[in-house]
Amino acid sequence: MRILDYGYPLSPIPREAVEMKVKMKFNVEHINIRVTKNEEYFKKYVKEAHKRNFKVLVYFNVHAYERRFALEHPDWVQKRDDGSIVDNLYGVRVAPCVNSPFRNWSVNVIRELATKYDIDGVFLDGPAYYPRACYCDYCKKKFKEKYGHELPKWEDWGNPVWNEFIEFRYESIAEFLKACEKGLKEVKSDAVIYMNSNGLWPAWVNARDNRRLIKYQDILGAEGGFIFYTRPIDIPLWKPGATAKLLETQSNGKPTVIFIAGDHKPYSYYPLTEAEVRLLYADTIANGANPWFAPRKTQFELVTEINKFIEENSEYFEGTKSIAKVALVWSSRTADFYGASVPKIDFLPPGAKVGKASLTRDFTEAFYGYYEALFRSHIPFDVIDDEFLERENLDKYDVIVMPNVACLSQRIVNRLKEYVERGGNIIATYETSLYNEWGESLEDFSLSELFGVTFDKKILGPFEWDYVAIKERAEVLSDQILDNVPSPRFGIATKALERTKVLAVFREKSPGRYLPLQLESKYPAVTLKEYGKGKSIYLACSFDSSYWTLRLKDFRLLLTDPVLKLSHKIIELENAPPTLEVTVRKKADMLIVHLVNFTGDMQRPIEWITPVHNVVVKVHNVESVNRARALKLKKNLKFTIYENIVEVKVPRVNDHEVLVIE
Ligand SMILES: [Zn+2]
Repeated sequence: MRILDYGYPLSPIPREAVEMKVKMKFNVEHINIRVTKNEEYFKKYVKEAHKRNFKVLVYFNVHAYERRFALEHPDWVQKRDDGSIVDNLYGVRVAPCVNSPFRNWSVNVIRELATKYDIDGVFLDGPAYYPRACYCDYCKKKFKEKYGHELPKWEDWGNPVWNEFIEFRYESIAEFLKACEKGLKEVKSDAVIYMNSNGLWPAWVNARDNRRLIKYQDILGAEGGFIFYTRPIDIPLWKPGATAKLLETQSNGKPTVIFIAGDHKPYSYYPLTEAEVRLLYADTIANGANPWFAPRKTQFELVTEINKFIEENSEYFEGTKSIAKVALVWSSRTADFYGASVPKIDFLPPGAKVGKASLTRDFTEAFYGYYEALFRSHIPFDVIDDEFLERENLDKYDVIVMPNVACLSQRIVNRLKEYVERGGNIIATYETSLYNEWGESLEDFSLSELFGVTFDKKILGPFEWDYVAIKERAEVLSDQILDNVPSPRFGIATKALERTKVLAVFREKSPGRYLPLQLESKYPAVTLKEYGKGKSIYLACSFDSSYWTLRLKDFRLLLTDPVLKLSHKIIELENAPPTLEVTVRKKADMLIVHLVNFTGDMQRPIEWITPVHNVVVKVHNVESVNRARALKLKKNLKFTIYENIVEVKVPRVNDHEVLVIE
């Protein structure tokens, strides 16, 4: 799918409007016009679209309305804990509440659309809850009936009623989607419905839990390509790819979509650079998702070129699966109940402050840091979540990486132990497993036995100019790592148990920076425990979140060396900069290797992509090869095979190359 969202009719003649969109090589759209005011036009439009095999989903905004909506329906809008209405979405809009009569009204709108017009489906923009909401009368009443309590104070972390409220908000959004789905399918069973779901940030803020929502929708999509809002250099290069990885895990095999906006947020009339658009698209495709794009007029030509490439090669993009042997955990429980900073997103009204992230407590930063390290080390990996750890097949991975995954249920703890016992490996950092799934702190790590350490009841740091001393490499740390590595800002005080190898220790804190190295402290910084047939590596310091800030090479090596040593290699790159992302996907007998080239002019927004040349790609576990084709270069490349490795030299990668090995 190549989904278009262009809010303005391109032509007053329906046939011409459709043709312009088809010419841009889109094959689906979210049409955002006031259908009821354009009845005849729209009927003709859908007919013309279907003649050209172009699918029409009606865009239905269910999250942000003009203020007069609140005057017309004062009891339908979300209310904050202080009784005021939520009226500052995007600066000026109000938010309808899913528990008010707005729900039935929405279902009726959908039924009417599907009855009157031959639409292919509906896209719901929203629904969502907003910070400090909802304390409207419908929510109060429904909560009381369901849980027997009054609504709690806003962000009353630790109060069990607050936990119920988080649950209630998630359930309310899911019930809304369920009702809309039912309404649509009763009228038109083959129509599709999906909503603007949660991206890779704490889900509680807008109460969209993708795992609950996927049951009631046909596609899982999120805003992975809405970028900037803030200082551009702070936005991960890989935001669309990371979102796509998470959605692939959460979609139950349904198609995934990354929403890409053509504008440089928050400036709706200012387009992103060409390089940024190319990379948002490439990173989306490389991670198995479909692009949705809302172009500015100046981007029509560019997007036509990109879509043409995707259309011509769609067989290599659709229905593929990642073959990564490494998984990085995005824990929604930890993001919700431990604390994780919330990046600037479209669904956060200006100035909103949410969550309890702090300097010593930030899951987002740890995840970002570990992601960046894996990305820059050319290690293909998937993103998995709590639900995956709870009930899916862990054995498909050689290594599961847990970046400060503080909140774990007992069931996950048991499953991880069994996984390592059977021969799996885990790498965990900092406060991983020091809290239960509701964010209540524990006396000791629930994975203490697996880590081979116990909690010594304090946080170490802040370290400023201090060091960690490497003691032993034990075949999991390479010789590239220096003997003394700067200490991350914080660490966890632990005691190693018997038969746990201490690979590194914190040095004592130094009073100043022009002083000799301090003595080694008693606190381990990196430990290795052999457990059953597998290994567990625990990093007591926050190398991941400190890597996000400082980008020290040795932090990256400490994070990725054990991953490389404990997993089967599936691919190696030579002569490639760290900014060349690699993913490997599979379809029938084909391996599809994506190379996304983020190498640029050392700034965001990227204005200039620097091509890379003569990248040597070695794909492992390949027995025979008929053909190695570079799709962008439109060329078959020479290859050699030895010891089940196929080696190909890719002469040039501009923004994106796709190597198909058959
Ligand atoms: Zn409400």
